[in-house]
Amino acid sequence: MNDTMLSAILDAMEDGVVVFDLEGTALLCNDAAYGLLHKKPGAIRTIADLPGEVHPFFEGVRSGSTEAVELFGEAVRLRYQDVTENGLRTGAVLILSDLGEQQRAERMRREFTANVSHELKTPLTSISGYAEMIENGMARDEDIRLFAERIRRESNRMRSLVSDIITLSELDERALYGQAEPVDLYTLAEEAVETLKSAAMLRGVSVQLSGGPTLVKGVRELLSELIYNLLDNAIRYNRDNGTVSVRTAGRTLSVRDTGIGIPRHHQNRIFERFYRVDKSRSKATGGTGLGLAIVKHITQQHHAELTLKSAEGIGTEITVTFPENE
Ligand code: ADP
Repeated sequence: MNDTMLSAILDAMEDGVVVFDLEGTALLCNDAAYGLLHKKPGAIRTIADLPGEVHPFFEGVRSGSTEAVELFGEAVRLRYQDVTENGLRTGAVLILSDLGEQQRAERMRREFTANVSHELKTPLTSISGYAEMIENGMARDEDIRLFAERIRRESNRMRSLVSDIITLSELDERALYGQAEPVDLYTLAEEAVETLKSAAMLRGVSVQLSGGPTLVKGVRELLSELIYNLLDNAIRYNRDNGTVSVRTAGRTLSVRDTGIGIPRHHQNRIFERFYRVDKSRSKATGGTGLGLAIVKHITQQHHAELTLKSAEGIGTEITVTFPENE
């Protein structure tokens, strides 16, 4: 392999690589290393040209040592390796890996686990509390029916939560888009309207479906879940006797309501897991805080685009636009 090939390979790598000789002169340095070290190409000639944050790593360093450091606000893992020829040490390699994305993902996973435990514990505590009162004879006869109803409500909440968590973890684990087929959004919307008819009636909310057959390439159950979640929210966050308009046309699906709306400063956060504008309203109406996170995930798997328009006290419209040639 010649030098041109070697430097093409090194420059295509995501990890930064710097090779030094025994005097500390840099023999080569790839593009990723210059990027991570915030140096212009050619600006690393010796070990002394490395940023100050890296210097302590070299004190007493041994081949194979690794350490995570913060470089210009990003977490970077350093790895040091001796270069040997015929058993003799002739130089050293410094490898730099960007940990930014990895660490962010790790933090999100930890937060999600903590939230899940909390969300599951709350209904469980109520369930066992009511059951205990009945068991110990502390509930009067007239309370028993009420307690049973609360136990049922909290159990339903746990069931929805567990089912949403399973959906999310399946979406995280597998690229379900592999099972895509032509799907008509209008038919799925009709089914969702039918399923949520009684929930809408209870609130006096009228649901209108318009547009026509809208064929997209997608995974039927996921798209059905997406429409259900949007419609369910449009009903739950509506005002009494409000309206919901579902429309499928071209490559788009939109769900518009005349509900409470979403304050501007919450708008870019409501697609996060467990983020709610009003926790008590969400819980009182059977929300899990995961519906829109699922919607976002499904949209991404379909390479579709999600737009939100909302005004407080006026209503909300969420539109999903599918790609043209899929
Ligand atoms: P939840 O189960 O709490 O409804 P979602 O993930 O579906 O969870 O939605 C997150 C939050 O976004 C909700 O708690 C609510 O505050 C807000 N939200 C979602 N849809 C609407 C809507 N159509 N109108 C007003 N607020 C909404």
